[in-house]
Amino acid sequence: MAKRRLSKQQQFRIRRIQAERTERAGKREQTIDRQLEAGELGDEQSGLIIAHYGQQLDVEAREGEHKGELFRCFVRANIDSLVTGDQVTWRPGQERTGVIVARNERQTLLQRPDNFGQLKPVAANIDHIILVIAPEPEPHDNLIDRYLVAAENTDIPAVILLNKADLLNDHNRAPIEALLNRYRDLGYPVVVASAHHPDAATPEVIDELVRNRTSVFVGQSGVGKSSIIQTLMPDTELKVGALSVSTGKGTHTTTTAKLFHLAIGGDLIDSPGIREFGLWHMTAQEIEYGFREIRNVTGNCRFRDCRHKGEPGCALAAAVEEGKISPQRLHSYQRILQSMEEQQARGLTTETEGRRH
Ligand code: GDP
Ligand code: ZN
Repeated sequence: MAKRRLSKQQQFRIRRIQAERTERAGKREQTIDRQLEAGELGDEQSGLIIAHYGQQLDVEAREGEHKGELFRCFVRANIDSLVTGDQVTWRPGQERTGVIVARNERQTLLQRPDNFGQLKPVAANIDHIILVIAPEPEPHDNLIDRYLVAAENTDIPAVILLNKADLLNDHNRAPIEALLNRYRDLGYPVVVASAHHPDAATPEVIDELVRNRTSVFVGQSGVGKSSIIQTLMPDTELKVGALSVSTGKGTHTTTTAKLFHLAIGGDLIDSPGIREFGLWHMTAQEIEYGFREIRNVTGNCRFRDCRHKGEPGCALAAAVEEGKISPQRLHSYQRILQSMEEQQARGLTTETEGRRH
């Protein structure tokens, strides 16, 4: 999103909105303080954030007589942004409400850039990112690698799940096996399954993967994410929270990540935004870090600003020569770098155009 100068009127509007927000936050604090003084809040206890709606959050009680039940909670102003999956300390109030008083330390955090390129937390305490691919739509290294780059940059382990195994045939089996082997060789776990299959054994593969862990599913549209989630939660009608927010520039769809408990044990966090995880602009450093076999090699190139495009003493070229890096991954690395540079260039053009008006 291009930066634009704000008109006087826009600046005025923004200041007014901020003032209103501060006032609301002040009132909320007062309400909380009043409840505290009146002794209306129960004892501190642990909870889990299930969903996030603007200023309010759904907290699930993790202990006590209401264990497993949901409370609509406000947050004390001194706690920084909370997201779905966060473990918190909270105090119950009247009629299924409550106040969150502290956030526990996070094990992991999934973030994505907002419209202004600032990283915003989306979900916390995810154990692994399950990247779903399928024989159809045909998997492309480049797209798989984009998801993996994003996952590597969160330090949350990624697993590749080939769904629709029933669609493997003599025509596509060899190339798909070769593709999967490239990722196995890099140390990514690979699981093969079929969400829709007469063979009753396959759901167990998926169960095994998600049991007693917190998972998110990502991947291209049409690979079967909804179908897989449906097999895990047959009784839940999968409504992922999507709400439209009107801004001066039209309607944006923002999405709320929701946490679901799985019958077999384990949790799932899902939202349309999470499913598209990784399909945003990434810096050259992030891309390099995202290729686990490339990041440790590039420091050895003869030239510090080596572009790895045939320069003498290029350590990447040498590693490909020695078979330590696959030509496909190198190609993919270069293509992602190039497409990000192009995206960047387009962004800059828009910005300069915006300034002219
Ligand atoms: P999503 O966009 O990733 O959520 O994908 P969907 O779950 O909507 O699935 C896309 C299409 O693939 C639907 O028509 C599903 O019925 C189909 N599909 C899902 N899983 C399988 C599978 O294991 N085998 C086959 N043959 N089709 C599947
Ligand atoms: Zn090089």
